[in-house]
Amino acid sequence: MLRTTSAMTDSTHKFRQTKIVITLGPATESEEILERLIVGGVDVARLNMAHANHDWTRMIIRRIREISQRVGREIAIMMDIKGPEIRTGDVEAPLELKMGEEFDFTVRPGGESGQSPEEIRSVGVNYENLVDDISVGDIVLVDNGLMRFEVTDKIDGRRIRCKVLIDGQLTSRRHINLPGVKVNLPAFTEKDRRDTLVGIEEGIDFVALSFVREASDITTLRDFLLDNDSKARIIAKIEDQSAIQNLDEIIHTCDALMVARGDLGIECPLEELPVIQRRALKACYDRGRAVIIATHMLESMIDSPVPTRAEITDVANAVYEEADCVMLSGETTIGKYPEQSVQTLDRIARRIEEEGDHAFDDPALLEGEKINVLKSAVLLANQTKNSSLLTFTRRGFIATSLAALRPAHAPIFAMTNSVTTLRQMRLLRAVNPYVMPLTSDPNDTIENAIRLLKREGLVEAGAKLIVVTDILSHDRLVDSVQLRTVR
Ligand code: PGA
Ligand code: MN
Repeated sequence: MLRTTSAMTDSTHKFRQTKIVITLGPATESEEILERLIVGGVDVARLNMAHANHDWTRMIIRRIREISQRVGREIAIMMDIKGPEIRTGDVEAPLELKMGEEFDFTVRPGGESGQSPEEIRSVGVNYENLVDDISVGDIVLVDNGLMRFEVTDKIDGRRIRCKVLIDGQLTSRRHINLPGVKVNLPAFTEKDRRDTLVGIEEGIDFVALSFVREASDITTLRDFLLDNDSKARIIAKIEDQSAIQNLDEIIHTCDALMVARGDLGIECPLEELPVIQRRALKACYDRGRAVIIATHMLESMIDSPVPTRAEITDVANAVYEEADCVMLSGETTIGKYPEQSVQTLDRIARRIEEEGDHAFDDPALLEGEKINVLKSAVLLANQTKNSSLLTFTRRGFIATSLAALRPAHAPIFAMTNSVTTLRQMRLLRAVNPYVMPLTSDPNDTIENAIRLLKREGLVEAGAKLIVVTDILSHDRLVDSVQLRTVR
């Protein structure tokens, strides 16, 4: 049996409910740092395929698995694939652009970076249908929104003319956003396919699909995973206005959602961002999908050992809103203080969780007999001091529903016989997964689980366990909720 003790620090309470996702990069790829982060309570490691090559990807996945085995704490690995990203081409030297100046974006074949016949400067774009899909008056944002252009003309099938709205410097291969434009690029690109195959070979737990625009984008990826015998679950990244328009069907189709605030904050009016975050959280909660709040959570900690006061409040807000996960990007890829950033999330999450206010009423769309049994278990847990929930799950569905019911203080111990399921449950709020054999006798399984929890110091004598399981009654399995006192 795998040892699965978590060595999380015991600051305010033993079990943090909010999970921590970190993106790996030069700041965190070393064995020592990774080991400290895994032992220290990071739940999910994210690989950003916009930057990672295949050798590094294989190396880092194997390293994580090896360390997890050694320290006895398995974490989940999320491969974040790039999706239909639009970028500028190469420029020979940085271009200084002045407000009011004219500037062209060109597409191949036929369009080149450099200078147009009228001596208007230009840059190439990797999106062939740009000229067809964009309209005069639309806005083009370059370099994560730092530079702003307005489309004034379509010159020919290969070139759009723009007016520069803000001074700035344009360098090679910058990210382009086209707010409100319906982009006709494939959802799952050739590069995504190649990257995902490497991930599948190395046994990743989640694929995060960037720029999901509609439910069928997720179905395409799901078919690909099935065709390649992968059990990886799908995280839909919502990053633009199409995703917001199709939010309900996206949430219905995905396994979990990421509120990708980096691009979302460029693609949508900025004041919409907190509104979207809250709506997405509520919609995920209603359907029992895990949700990750991502990007710029502790951005200033890339260079500073302490966060800004506004960042502290932003993280706290996500915890008050009962997100499943909070995520770090630059803070842990290139930041100077990756470990302090994780500790900062941990401290804020534990403190805010102590406040224990319920953000929402019961999930609206989870219904049926089974969920009512789970609801009664959570109600019992909420009303029983010093209690924990204990359940058994092969694929994680009961744990997902229990997590969606947001128990006020009780941790959810989820026992599974599958390491893959254990890793995937790392995403779920308040779920603490462990691996053990699930025998055909439910009573034996419960007794074994309680022994494991005691042995690992997770519960003590006198603690109350609310056990949610099937029991055998006259040869039939029936749902049961039991209140047991640990002896
Ligand atoms: P990215 O996605 O880091 O892959 O761009 C997250 C975001 O846009 O917030
Ligand atoms: Mn993004």
